[in-house]
Amino acid sequence: MARQLAYVFDLNKCIGCHTCTMACKQLWTNRGGREYMYWNNVESQPGKGYPRNWEQKGGGFKNGALQTDGQLPGLEDYGIPWEYNLAEVLLEGRGDYVKPHVKPTWGPNWDEDEGSGEFPNNYYFYLPRICNHCSNPACLAACPRKAIYKRPEDGLVVVDQERCRGYRYCVKACPYGKVYFNLKTGMSEKCIGCYPRVEKGVPPACVAQCVGRVRFVGWREDKDGPVFKLVDQWKVALPLHPEYGTEPNVFYVPPVHTSPPPFADDGRLKDAPRIPLSYLESLFGPTVKSAIDTLAREIEKRRQGQPSDLTEILIGYTNKDRFRL
Ligand code: SF4
Ligand code: SF4
Ligand code: SF4
Repeated sequence: MARQLAYVFDLNKCIGCHTCTMACKQLWTNRGGREYMYWNNVESQPGKGYPRNWEQKGGGFKNGALQTDGQLPGLEDYGIPWEYNLAEVLLEGRGDYVKPHVKPTWGPNWDEDEGSGEFPNNYYFYLPRICNHCSNPACLAACPRKAIYKRPEDGLVVVDQERCRGYRYCVKACPYGKVYFNLKTGMSEKCIGCYPRVEKGVPPACVAQCVGRVRFVGWREDKDGPVFKLVDQWKVALPLHPEYGTEPNVFYVPPVHTSPPPFADDGRLKDAPRIPLSYLESLFGPTVKSAIDTLAREIEKRRQGQPSDLTEILIGYTNKDRFRL
């Protein structure tokens, strides 16, 4: 039976530690032309993200039609990997910390913690990103070789390395900037959802290693699982940029208590959120207001000492509570 692996990331718990990024990199992308790739990255938003300005790159669908004008990010938009010349610097007392010919100007996490707004009411939050393993993947629709497919057993979107000819239509078409081109092999590559682990009932590496217990994983159809409960029952987990039309299977609990309330002119705290609702709507669509209201209501219940099933799910006490494969 076809089923869909899905993820929920609770942005209220992400501390931007990048353990998830390193877990993926160590496992899949530290070699073989993948050195520049971060299938999992964590960016500070508002920000330019990774690859740089991915939200403006285009692609996806409009009114059901695949957009063919998506941009191809350059290597400098991802960040050119550099080597540290520590031996020269530390043992020989000369040189710089990075080799001068690759002086970096951008990279993953380049604008960490910069955010937006004026001090003292500036704000930011961390946004972990992987391939969304979309139900309507633009990368798949754009490939003339039919090299990209959804695995029927788990809905993960993968690139068949035998069929790929490196045309990069998929890189242009993914509006999330989550397909990468391997210059060594001449083929496109992307997050594989850790399918060799999933096949054994083990959560993906980025999910399992998350120290903030931000990540929930399970089958989209499993009514007893945390993903279904957060997405469909409580409706507090939302796709990123639903207007791109790809029907993502990564859902986010919006950040409602990552920042303190803003200051009024007289220095007192205002009874208002620091992150503007309009900004969250630009990321998660118009239903984010109702998700935030539900979260606030349930958190308040909990503060009053009343039970709240939603906050119990979001705490996710044990691995079994967060992972159902
Ligand atoms: Fe394809 Fe991009 Fe969707 Fe991943 S996020 S399935 S790469 S369209
Ligand atoms: Fe990397 Fe696996 Fe996470 Fe995909 S699911 S980003 S391959 S660790
Ligand atoms: Fe956030 Fe978890 Fe990744 Fe750390 S490991 S950055 S807490 S998602």
